[in-house]
Amino acid sequence: MNRFSIAIHGGAGTLVKGLMTADLEAKYKAALNTALEAGYRVLENSGSALEAVEVSVKLLEDSPLFNAGKGSVFTAEGNHEMDAAIMEGATLRAGAVSLISGIKNPVSLARDVMEKSEHVFLAGEGAMQFAKSNGYSIESADYFYDEVRYQQWQGIKGSDKFQLDHSVKKDGKFGTVGAVACDVNGNVAAATSTGGMTNKKWGRVGDSPMIGAGNYANNKTCAVSCTGSGEFFIRGVVAYDVSCLMEYKGYSLQDAASEVINDRILRIGGDGGLIAVDAKGNIAMPFNTEGMYRAYKNSEGKKEIAIYKD
Ligand code: ASP
Repeated sequence: MNRFSIAIHGGAGTLVKGLMTADLEAKYKAALNTALEAGYRVLENSGSALEAVEVSVKLLEDSPLFNAGKGSVFTAEGNHEMDAAIMEGATLRAGAVSLISGIKNPVSLARDVMEKSEHVFLAGEGAMQFAKSNGYSIESADYFYDEVRYQQWQGIKGSDKFQLDHSVKKDGKFGTVGAVACDVNGNVAAATSTGGMTNKKWGRVGDSPMIGAGNYANNKTCAVSCTGSGEFFIRGVVAYDVSCLMEYKGYSLQDAASEVINDRILRIGGDGGLIAVDAKGNIAMPFNTEGMYRAYKNSEGKKEIAIYKD
């Protein structure tokens, strides 16, 4: 039996120790723990990595603490536009959605694109039609309303500024979410989901739903889910870059992930982090920001839930 493992993240950013109340910190850790354990249970029961990452990401989407699903940030027009992607390392099948609204769990819609359509990536109105034709109900704006998110938006509404959820206000809430897993059969998978940036407009899309940029999985190498300044992560093709360093240069997971986050992406000005797993169940979780909400658990009994550098 292969060693199995799962890692999740809830966004990277200016997470400085001491700026969050102990109570809020405990809430973040509890939410991460719930999502981690649910995904781990799938793997423990010999479920697939694909199933595990969807289960974990759904729970993170359901939490108002993270910038995905329920906790998504406000756009310039006062709406929520969400992006998500999922990929299976055994088959290289992938599904992604972008600029969708009113969907409780974008990651499940991304999985349906992968499994129930001939396509990989559906966006906007068309993605919504696909959702409706697959029986998705549309949640009202109330479901996604969050006072803190609203205030974040009020701070820059009407301006040309847009704000990465994790990098501006030191007391802000952070968090695109993601999960990567390796199952008992050595299959890997990755899923990522986000509300993008506060006050975003013009149909802005970040790295999260882009296969190879914010999300990628390949049994030959690894599964990766990213968080950070999306424009830079797109230009750096970050998730695929980690995979390429392993495939073409023979790097270990740890070395590949670290080189991309602590060197290659930094050189073009990108900040953020990623979680990654290889087909042997090894895990890497590098970030070049002050912190990253993150957690992992493996079948050897190792488990960690952390926010700051140490
Ligand atoms: N990468 C995401 C985006 O640019 C944001 C994040 O990671 O929080 O949309």
